[in-house]
Parts: sequence; C-alpha cells; structure tokens
Amino acid sequence: MLNSELNAEVAIVGGGMVGMALALSLAQHDINSVLLEAMPASDDFSEQFDDRTLVINPASKLFWQDLGLWSEIEPHTTPINHVHVSNQGRFGLVQFDKDELKVSQLGHVVAAKTLAKLLFDAVKRQKMIDFLQPAQLHEFQQTDRHVNLSVANGDSVKTMAAQLMVGADGVQSPIRTQLKLATEVKSYDRTALVCNLITSQKHQNRAFERLTNHGPMALLPFTNRSGHSRFGFVWSMQTDQAEELLAVDDDIFIEQAQQQFGYRAGEFQQISRRSSYPIYQIKVPVQHAHRTILMGNAAHAVSPVSAQGLNLAVRGIARLSEQLRLAKKQGQDLGDHSVLLAYQEASKQDQQRTLDYTDDLMTWFKIDEPLVNTCRSIGLVAINANLALKKMLFNTAGGLR
Ligand SMILES: Cc1cc2nc3c(=O)[nH]c(=O)nc-3n(C[C@H](O)[C@H](O)[C@H](O)COP(=O)(O)OP(=O)(O)OC[C@H]3O[C@@H](n4cnc5c(N)ncnc54)[C@H](O)[C@@H]3O)c2cc1C
Repeated sequence: MLNSELNAEVAIVGGGMVGMALALSLAQHDINSVLLEAMPASDDFSEQFDDRTLVINPASKLFWQDLGLWSEIEPHTTPINHVHVSNQGRFGLVQFDKDELKVSQLGHVVAAKTLAKLLFDAVKRQKMIDFLQPAQLHEFQQTDRHVNLSVANGDSVKTMAAQLMVGADGVQSPIRTQLKLATEVKSYDRTALVCNLITSQKHQNRAFERLTNHGPMALLPFTNRSGHSRFGFVWSMQTDQAEELLAVDDDIFIEQAQQQFGYRAGEFQQISRRSSYPIYQIKVPVQHAHRTILMGNAAHAVSPVSAQGLNLAVRGIARLSEQLRLAKKQGQDLGDHSVLLAYQEASKQDQQRTLDYTDDLMTWFKIDEPLVNTCRSIGLVAINANLALKKMLFNTAGGLR
C-alpha cells in the first residue's frame, strides 16, 4: 500500500480548459481524478483569458452536448451563420452560408473566460473530481504500478499516486520537458494581435476572414453579456510590426486595421484592450511515456488564427476517455502502455490534418508572387463555385472529417 495522502485513478496536471474538460469527461465514465492547477482561483478568469473569443466548431458542440454542458454554454454563445473569406487587393472570394450548406449554423463564438468559468463551476459540482488549487506539481516518479506525485498545495506538500498522469500543463509543458519528449517547434516570426471591436454595422452573425500578405485577419461575431454587438478580432502580422501596433493609440490602430480589412463589416469605431500572442506550431510526435500522456497545448499547438486549438483538444479528450472507459470495463490498468498507444494511434491523423490545415493558412498566403497571387485568387473563385468542395472545407474546419 502506498503511503500517499491522495489516490486517484488519474492525476491531471493543469486545470486549464483542457484539464477541466478531461476531468469532467472521465467523471462521466465513472473514472475519478485529481486535478491540479498551479494558478490561484480567479473569480472571472479575466487575467488568464483577457478578451479572447473562441470558435466552438460543430464537432466540439457535439462533445459539450455529450458532456451535458451545452445547455449551459449555448446561452452565452453567438451562432455563426455566414463566413466571408476574401483576398486583400485582389479578386476572389468564398462565402460559406448555413442555408447553402444545409446546417443549422457554421459554429458558435464564446468568450474564453465565460467558457472557463462554466467548466470551473461544473468541476466544483462533480464529486468524482478532487480539484486542488493552487497546487503545483513539483516532481513525479513513474513506478511499475503507479505514478507518484509530489505537489505544493498552499503551505503544505501533498503526495499522491495515480495509475495514469496526464500532462495538460500548457504549451511550455514542464512534464514534456522532464520526460524529454521530442518537440518540433515551427516559428512563423508572426504575432497575433487580439481585441474586441465595435463596428458601425451589427455583426448579423457574420464571420470574416481576410487573407493579406502580412497574414490572415479574422473577425468573429459576438454578442456580449449586455446584448451589444461586437467582433472578436485576431490580426496576425510580422512580430516587429505587431510590437509597433501594440504601442500606438487606439485611433491609429483602428485606422490601420480598417485600411487592411476594408469596409465589409462597416466602419471600425472602438476597440478593447489589445493582447498579443506569438504564433508557432508545436508538434510532439510521441506524446506518451510510462504511465503518462500529454493533452491539449502540451501535445500540440497551432496558430490562433485558425481557431482550432481547443477544438482539436476536445476531440482528443473524447478519444482518451473512451479508451480509459473500455480499459476500466475490462479490468485493465489505466496506465497500461497499450491503452496510451491505442489513444495516440487513433489521434494521429486528426492531429496531423489540423496542423497541416493551419500551417497552410499561415504560409500559403504569405507568398507575394504574381503567379501565386493569381492562383490564390483563382483558387478562391473555384472553391466558391463548387458546393462539394465547400462542404469538404467546412467539414475539415468543423472537425467532422
Ligand atoms: C488568441 C487565441 C485565440 C484562440 N482561439 C481559439 C478558437 O477560436 N478555437 C479554439 O478551439 N482554440 C482557440 N485557441 C486555442 C485555445 O485557447 C487553447 O488551445 C486552449 O486554451 C489550450 O488549453 P490547455 O488547457 O491545453 O492549456 P493552458 O490554457 O495553457 O492550461 C495549462 C494549465 O496548466 C497549468 N500548469 C502548468 N504547469 C503546472 C504545474 N506544474 N502544476 C500545476 N498546474 C500547472 C497552468 O497554470 C495552466 O492553467 C486560441 C488561442 C489564442 C491564444
């Protein structure tokens, strides 16, 4: 018998959205977990998530429905009914419309801090989850039968044992580093500037993607808690340009953004505080080690411009929970190598497709050559004229393939 203060079937390190969603999904399958989050509890998650908005794609909506949380999330979301993709300064445009694609909506937009708070409240209600916060993993040992963890929890140090440890500890993942799992980092020398934007026109449930030589710009429709129309704005550009634009007055920022984007969404009038995120891609070819697996940003990170990071992660959570449910039903050890391997094999293609999709978005539109520009424009025209191709693209971005 281990001399540990806390035992759980699964120990999840990192109480971000991925750690919380995984703990809830495991609880649904009667698997208990201890969830460790290093940051102190926050009332409204404004510090962690600033004014970021997230697109919930159709596959993720199914995930939240299966988890029984969609009825709580949906009232805080804004449906996307129409997506308009255009090519700055050139011909070519693609429009995706819910009616043409015969779907009830193309996706939903939610404030990241609202989604985080709803998950946090659900975790607190769930008896199968032991949520320790602030609780920082200090060290761990992988033994034959358990992973033993030592955790700083307030003023005390707690020890615990679990059959499986999940590293949901974010893009820098100390667990990934400690396990020396090979990590491929692709830097784009690009930074995403993020803020909310008020325009002279109401959003009318339209999202916009503008492809420029500096990188893509995205406007996401969003109705805030007071019922006011906004757009979530993500603008990617070279890092030195982003640094300059972070420092200028709001008026200058608005003028420059309008110049790049045009007037399809109306006149840009007001912005919220601006945040910036360096853009890179992280690929971890082998995401498991003895009794340990990486999830979410610890396992894969993509450009925020594609709105895919959390959407990809929840598909992985659904797969891992299912593997663990089956293992438990068959009386198998949850940390067994075959269980972790089965999860990773099942996730490989989905992860690679999502990494490729976002990489194409970041690189293809960066090339400023006359021939490439013409091909790009013709490509957009061709997509717009081909419903089957549009459906395929929608299914890829929607996580439905
Ligand atoms: C601007 C922007 C826009 C985005 N838009 C979208 C979108 O539209 N759609 C979408 O699907 N995704 C989007 N994403 C991506 C999405 O936000 C991330 O994929 C997701 O938040 C990753 O969550 P995570 O839990 O893996 O990581 P994090 O949120 O980084 O959580 C990791 C947690 O682990 C904790 N931790 C670390 N080390 C330890 C330790 N030793 N002990 C205990 N705790 C520890 C940290 O404190 C942290 O809370 C966007 C991202 C950005 C930046």
